[in-house]
Amino acid sequence: MTAFRLRIFACTLLLAAGVSSSALSQQIIRKDIKISQAASSISVQNISATIDTLVSFTTRHNLSTRNGKDFGIGSAASFLFNSLERYSKSSVSRCYAERVKFLAGGKGTRLGREISLENIVFTIEGTNKSDDRVIALLAHYDSRSFDNNDSLIFAPGANDNGSGVSALMEIARILAKTPLPVTVKLMFLSGEEHGLLGAAHMAAVARKDNWNLTAVMNNDMIGNSRSSATEISNNTKLRVFSENIPVFETDQMKKERIFNSAENDSKSRQLARYIKEIGERYVDNLEVKLIYRNDRFGRGGDHTPFTKEGFTAVRLCEYHENYDRTHQVVEVVDGLEMGDVKKGVDLEYVRKNAAVNLTSVMNLAMAPDMPENVKIDIAGLSSSTKISWKAPEKGAKPAGYYVLIRETDKSNWERKIFVTSTTFDIDISKDNYLFAVQSVDSDGHESLAVYATGGAQR
Ligand SMILES: [Zn+2]
Repeated sequence: MTAFRLRIFACTLLLAAGVSSSALSQQIIRKDIKISQAASSISVQNISATIDTLVSFTTRHNLSTRNGKDFGIGSAASFLFNSLERYSKSSVSRCYAERVKFLAGGKGTRLGREISLENIVFTIEGTNKSDDRVIALLAHYDSRSFDNNDSLIFAPGANDNGSGVSALMEIARILAKTPLPVTVKLMFLSGEEHGLLGAAHMAAVARKDNWNLTAVMNNDMIGNSRSSATEISNNTKLRVFSENIPVFETDQMKKERIFNSAENDSKSRQLARYIKEIGERYVDNLEVKLIYRNDRFGRGGDHTPFTKEGFTAVRLCEYHENYDRTHQVVEVVDGLEMGDVKKGVDLEYVRKNAAVNLTSVMNLAMAPDMPENVKIDIAGLSSSTKISWKAPEKGAKPAGYYVLIRETDKSNWERKIFVTSTTFDIDISKDNYLFAVQSVDSDGHESLAVYATGGAQR
């Protein structure tokens, strides 16, 4: 974009910012053709074929055989690894698949004994070597039936979590041909059904090896569109779960959160809002619903070991669940079909949810890194607000920044104002609004938002 066009763009947004949010009838949205094309190349046929293959292994129970040719969790791992190897051989991006083995369980654990499990990790290396950010997508590939100790019974796991795995496999295929500036890791995890074991291993590796892991998106059950009992059919809503008060919060973080009224502005929540904005920008007939809790009551997911290590992580999950199909024996009871078979998976819904992942990852990877040290000046009493920040140290330099504004009782950012400087003044009171700042490049790819704070109370 030329400097002139950028100026016009800035003026338009600033004019829009001058009116009250309820009067904002138009919003500027710029779509990147490369992201749109990538999203439209997601194939329902490929999603369907991946689920068929996973189901064909009868079970992917964590205690099932690792050596079967076409039965058990080992055959599923080999299928994923071999498919990813094939993608990497015909790739344009620099990418590779790994089998990450780890020991899990032991006496007194849910597994009952110590076993070796493996995660399959596909890495698409970023092209900008001065930007070490990593974005991770997760999907567990193990499955279970009603009895979580039964490693032989048919446990197709078509939706839980064939849906998430098939979405990530499509994203792997597409990103292998689509180089991005930032590294993306697609993690196919085992051990989920016995305590999030594969995710815990990867989160520990990321922490130990000091990855600059800026966003983690866990996909677990993203294909069911019909609720049990209430029989609601709807494939136009996707849930994104995010923690409010970080489970990894130090005393100092707690003080800052309270002083800045940041209980609804954790980093994971900024990521959730980002997925909503980008997903809805690119994917039609889909509303991303922000669920302001880490996960569902009494149930967990693979994003949680990452939040426990202090990473920014969320869970994407279908809006309606079907409890006749989840973790049930495949059988007909009083005319009701039970069990997690492929018939219960809405392939078009998986396609849309895969597209939310792909477009969010691409937009984030093409954006500059986040601004640093985003501060509100709280030194004096005034009816206006002054915010300042620093350009990101690593990676591409931003063309400018978006200042995000919302009223304190609103869920989503309401105004998005483009500026080229690293300071921002506005004649509204800092006490009546919440603020954040995103970096943006000349094509409009924006970074995650950094919540503006007034520091900590002394
Ligand atoms: Zn699951």
